[in-house]
Parts: sequence; C-alpha cells; structure tokens
Amino acid sequence: MKVLKFGGSSVASPENIIKIKNILLAYNDPIIVVVSAFGGVTDQLLQAGEMAAKEQTGYKDILSEIETRHLDTVKELIPITAQSKVLSKVKSELNILETLLEGAYFIGEITPKLSDKIVSFGELLSSYIISEYLASEGLDAVYKDSRELIKTFKLAGKNVVDFTLTDTNCKEYFKNNGAFITVCPGFIATSKNNDITTLGRGGSDYTAAIYAAALEADILEIWTDVSGMYTANPKMVKQAKAITHISYEEAMELSHFGAKVLYPPTIQPVLSKGISILIKNTFKPEEEGTLITKSRNEGGKTVRGISHIGNMALLSLEGPGMVGIPGISKRFFEVLSQADISVVLITQASSEHSICVGVSADDVEKSVEVVNEAFAYEIERGKIKEVIPEKGLAIVALVGDNMKSHQGLSGKMFSTLGKNNVNIRVIAQGASERNISCVINEKDVKKALNALHEEFFEENVKQLNLFVMGVGNVGAKFLNQIKSQEKYLKKNLKLNVRVVGISNSRTMHFDEKGIPLDTWQDTLSTGQKADKQLFIDRVNDLNLRNSIFVDNTASAEIAGTYADFLSNSISVVTCNKIACSSEYYNYARLKSLAREYNAPFLFETNVGAGLPILDTLKNLIASGDKVLKIQAVLSGSLNFVFNNFNDSNTFHDIVKRAQEEGYTEPDPKIDLSGIDVMRKILILARESGYVLEIGDIENNSFLPKESLDTTNNDDFFTSLVKYESDFQKIYADAKAKNCKLKYVAQFENGKASVGLQEIPEDHDFYNLEGSDNIVLFFTERYKNLPLIIKGAGAGSDVTASGIFADIIRIGNF
Ligand code: ADP
Ligand code: ASP
Ligand code: MG
Repeated sequence: MKVLKFGGSSVASPENIIKIKNILLAYNDPIIVVVSAFGGVTDQLLQAGEMAAKEQTGYKDILSEIETRHLDTVKELIPITAQSKVLSKVKSELNILETLLEGAYFIGEITPKLSDKIVSFGELLSSYIISEYLASEGLDAVYKDSRELIKTFKLAGKNVVDFTLTDTNCKEYFKNNGAFITVCPGFIATSKNNDITTLGRGGSDYTAAIYAAALEADILEIWTDVSGMYTANPKMVKQAKAITHISYEEAMELSHFGAKVLYPPTIQPVLSKGISILIKNTFKPEEEGTLITKSRNEGGKTVRGISHIGNMALLSLEGPGMVGIPGISKRFFEVLSQADISVVLITQASSEHSICVGVSADDVEKSVEVVNEAFAYEIERGKIKEVIPEKGLAIVALVGDNMKSHQGLSGKMFSTLGKNNVNIRVIAQGASERNISCVINEKDVKKALNALHEEFFEENVKQLNLFVMGVGNVGAKFLNQIKSQEKYLKKNLKLNVRVVGISNSRTMHFDEKGIPLDTWQDTLSTGQKADKQLFIDRVNDLNLRNSIFVDNTASAEIAGTYADFLSNSISVVTCNKIACSSEYYNYARLKSLAREYNAPFLFETNVGAGLPILDTLKNLIASGDKVLKIQAVLSGSLNFVFNNFNDSNTFHDIVKRAQEEGYTEPDPKIDLSGIDVMRKILILARESGYVLEIGDIENNSFLPKESLDTTNNDDFFTSLVKYESDFQKIYADAKAKNCKLKYVAQFENGKASVGLQEIPEDHDFYNLEGSDNIVLFFTERYKNLPLIIKGAGAGSDVTASGIFADIIRIGNF
C-alpha cells in the first residue's frame, strides 16, 4: 500500500487533474490518494466566512466563483452520461455551504466550529469530483470520507488526532475495502461528537501521513508543484536545488522553519513507523524528487538547507528585577502559552537581564497585552520594563544534521550576512545543533537567503549584480567586454556577473534576472524615461546581494549619488573623477562609508585608465611603504595631442581628432586646461595619504586665457583656430632644443603642480608614445630608482577594462 497526496496546485485545474490520472496509471500496488482543495479554495472559503460574519454580502460573489469553478471542472472532466449524478451531488453540497454562510451572515458571527465546517467543503468537493473522474476513466477508484476515519479531540484548545481511534478506524476500513484507488479528502476530520474539525493550514500532508502510519504503508508520497524539498525556497532563490536525500530530522527542522512544501506535523507519524516520504512534482514526474528517511546525512554537505519564516516579531522582557529571580521565564512562557501564542525562537542573555522570544507578528498585540498584565506588579515597581515588541522581522535558519561537528559555520553565516549589510537582531542555535537561526529585517530576507545560498551551496560561484549608469563610449565597451567574458568568468573566476540595470541620459531599464547583453541597446532604447532618483530607489528596492553601481559618466550629479549607494552597502565603481577630486571632506567621507558599510568604492580608472596605478599604490601603502615623490605624465589625451601635433598640421585638428577617437573627456577643455591632470595628481596624492585640495595645485596652463574662458565646445574649438600661431611657437621652441612636449604632473613635499614641460632626450618621459601614461613613484623603498608604471592611459577600451578589473576585485573581495 502506498499513500499519495496531491496538493492544491496539483488539483487546481482539470488539466492538472488529468496529469494526476496519468501518474496514477503507473502504480501496481493499491493506493490511497489524499487530495487538497482546488488551489486557492481554502483561502476563498475562509474569506467568505469572515465576510459573512461581518455582514458583508460580498461573500456571495466568492461563493458563486467557487460554485462555477467546481461545476465547470465536473463538466470538463466527466463524460456527459455520468455528469448529472455528480453535478447534483456537488450542487447539493454547495447548497449546504450556502446555508452555513447565510447562517454566519444572519448571526453576524462565526465560531471556530462553523468556520471548520465551512472550510471543509474545499476538500470534500475536490476529493469527490476527483474520485468520480478517476472512476469515469475506468480506474478502480472509490471515494472515502476522511471524516469517518480520522478522529480528533481537544487538547489545550487545539484539535489533536486521536491516533488510537484513528488507527483502528483506518485498519478496519481498509481491511474490507478492495478498491485499487481510494480517494480521500485531506485536511478534515471529526471530533468524538462528529463535529467537523480541521488539521491546520497545509494539513492535507498530515492526513496522508496519518493514513500511511495507520496502514504501515510502504511509502508516503507528497506530490506538489516543486521537484522536492529544496536547498531554499525556490520561489525566493533561483539557484536552489532539490535535495535528493534528507533525514526526517533535517526535513522537520526545515519545515518548522518555513519550508512550506511539507506541513511540519507530517513527519512525526511516519517517522515512528520508519516509513519514508518521497516529495515529487506533479508537473515534472520524471524528476527524482526528495527522499526523506531515518538515515542521517553522513558525508555530503554539512548545511542541507536554508529556510525562513516571515511575518515575525520579537518580544523582549527585560529589567533589573529579572536578575537572579527564579520563575520569571517560567511565568513569561506560561502566560504566552495560556494565550495560545506559539513561541518560535527563544534567546536569553546569560546575564539573565533579558529574555527575547520570536512570535508571529499576528500575535504581537495579544502577547504584549497578556505579558504586561501578568507582570503588572513588577512593571509598576520598575523591576521589569514593559514588554517591547518589534515587528517587520523574519527568521532565517541554516539546517543540517552534521552542523554540530563543524566549527565556524555560524561565523560564516554571520559574516556573509554582515558583508551584505543584513542587520542581525537575534541569534539562536537549537539545542540539537541541527539549526542556527537568526532574526533579521523582513525586507532583507531575499538578499539574505540568496547570499547564504551562494555561500553554502553554489560552489563559490558568486553573483555580482551590476547597475550601469552611462553607456556611451566607455559604458558600451564595458558591456561588450562583460558579454564576451561571461563564460570565462563563471568557469575560471567563479563569478556570475549580471547587469540588472542600465541607464543613459534618456532612458533606463531594469531586469532582475539580468539584462541579455546581446540586445541591451534595443532594450534600453525602449526602456522607461531616465530619472536619477528613480534609478537609485530601484537599486535600493531590489536589495540584491553584491550590488555594484558602475558610473561611466563624467557627471557631477551622478558623482553626488555615491554616498547613497555606499550607505546602503552597494559598491561603487567609477571612471568619473569628480567625486575623488572634489573637496577632501567628500572624498574621505566616501572612503569611510565604504569601510563602514563593507562596500568597496573603487576608481582605478580615475588615473591612467586601465593601468593598475591606484591598486599598486594601495599595495605599497598597505605594506608599509611611504610615498616621497610622484612624477607622472597622466594625460593620455594631452600625450596624444602633443605626440601628433607638429608644423604640418594644426592644433585644432589634432584636438578634434583626439576627441573623436575617445581620447579626451566629452568636454576636451577639461583635458587641455590641465584640470583633468590636476584631478589625477590630486587623487594620487590623496591615495598616498596626503590631505590636499584641488586649489592647492599649481597649474601652469599653456592655453590662452580666451580659450580657458570659453563655456562650450564650439567656442573652445574656435579659439584654438584663433591662437594657432601660439601653439606653433610652443612646438617650435621645444623642437629647437631637441625636446618633446609633455604635460607633467608632480608631487613632492606635500606640493603638487601640473604644466607643459620641454622634455630632453635622456628623460624617462621622452619616449612616451601615443596616448601612453607613465608614473614614477619615489618611495622609502624605491628611493633612487622609482617604481615605474607605463602603458596606454586613455581610450575607451582600456578604460572599460579598468572598470572591469575593479568589478573583478570586488568579486574577489
Ligand atoms: P501544496 O499545495 O502542494 O501542498 P505548498 O504550496 O503547500 O504545496 O508547498 C509547495 C511550496 O512550498 C512550493 O511551491 C514553494 O514555494 C514552497 N517552499 C518553501 N520552501 C521550500 C523548500 N525549501 N523547498 C521546496 N519548496 C519550498
Ligand atoms: N486546503 C488546506 C489548505 O489550503 C489544506 C492543504 O491544502 O494542505 O491549507
Ligand atoms: Mg502544502
């Protein structure tokens, strides 16, 4: 004998019920088929009851929806010749339901007894219709009403199963029942007085377990809408996988902590008889599913699953009067239990100064009331404070039989949450050490589950979620580089880099599953209107782990958003120099926010595009070196210009070409005036540990004042034409001395300067080609011979790869 249970979504439609029939055809042993109400019907019945009790006529609409759904199902599944009997039975049941609801409506009240009676119609109707359908398909199927077999009694206000009576009833009935398939309603039972009772939400699983245990079935199969018990709720964690084999205890712990796929009481009856449970997917019957047995998890993963319970609240009882006084916690728990409030989690500080318990948020008002009342005497005398409730919380739990023999799991759990800025309110470890749970804000649940799942299950493949602002020259190259490296990163660096949001100045687009990078241009062009604040809000609302904001713009407005991101633990990678070269206070604040919120703030491309200049400097400083002097040619744009400018072309044309080829900022004056180089030397000095402002830097500009004073690109270019002879003179002077022109930045003794210099042939800077940059670091360790970094220092490709390198640094963080 096997017992199979099909849940609400498995019986939600005629097509699904046909799937069930096909599954049943494969069985050779007698089976009991326990079914839930059609998906959603239990909720509707409860709602209708509540509305009726509030004298709201809307309950009639719900009733009529329920009626249509059941009658339509009969019409679709059962051949016309056999329909009338089934339809009239269903109608007569619906009439009784209507009368009961009317009763609640007229009295304006609904008792628990009446509510159970009303809600029982979900399973009564579904099981009856399914049994008739199976019979009409020629299967040897009969219907048996669970209310006649499963008996309950009241214990501390709750319906509990009378196993002695139930076992006898089941054995007796099935001994004499020869049908191959017996279809029974789940969830419902009766009391000794034959009043209808129910077994709790999700209770059809329990019904099936009760039958399986009473009849010592070979197996209990729970058929549902997922392929087993997963490493985490698959609706919350896309990467979750079905666990093929798990122990009773682990399954129980996971279901107690929110893995809804199995109703927690289900395991107890079958565990005592050693009957295995198999969880299967009605929609993918070919998949293996999860087998739950008594064998413990030897070997394999230590953490077997992660579950969570939402809608939680904490109650804290504290006060000086609690220390050393026995019986306070006993009274606390007693009063909660008497009020029928179940305590999900308990922690007590070893100082005995406070006790903290987790309860459902729905119970919070009642809990506060009863606890304050029970301790009124102590509260009045200041020995205990009024109980403090905190709502909007959730519990996240790691579960595994072998966790106790592994050190460091809780450390790993907390550091993973900490890195993602998930604040932990309370930590509890079950006495069995099969579970470590913590209470966090409900809004962080999805991020926490995914981060923990990644840490404990995903073979270290880390997902990075990118929000890219600016998709011009650099941004577009960057996106293309990610696209072409996607596979490599996953395979070799175990990084899954996804772009979740993109924006240019016109439109923006988000896709939580990752924007396909071969069509991002089209997706973006049809996206919503760009809006900086909406972009920030969306990034924060998505609350994804390892979120990185990438700024490929040169906009001051965007640079002003970094603090918002960092203080929400969102890393920032930028090629925009504005933030790091703004007032020192702002630069230092961003760096300190990055430290405080564990969110890297990286801007390698601010100096020397893709060259690893800042990273090298960071390593020098971290290893205890001290920067004494920096000499550098840092403007790829100015190099390009002065390497190409000569007496056979014009300064204007060369600058234009530099702009067109992406060697200058969108506004080329920023490069030509020396501002860009000033910003770079400022950043180098600051990263070397010096406090410097942009105004402290001496700028010996070679541009005529008129060019410097222009306010737009057109005027600027016009002025270059006007002063061509000045530029030719600068060139001729240098040439006469056999020198080349280089725009040099220097920092020494706390002072920085930038300016065009005539560089003689024997100098390190003389042979700098194209748009190359060079930096000479003179440090305590590199005193006489500097540490030199040289290479392509401008261009959208190398800048994009510098940004890419920062992303990888965060990935390895
Ligand atoms: P049924 O109606 O078949 O009883 P339920 O809705 O009660 O189905 O349970 C199945 C659901 O449980 C899944 O759709 C999934 O959303 C949820 N669930 C939560 N945690 C887990 C988990 N760890 N593994 C599988 N499913 C889970
Ligand atoms: N129909 C009941 C519920 O929705 C029982 C079940 O489906 O397990 O809670
Ligand atoms: Mg269920």
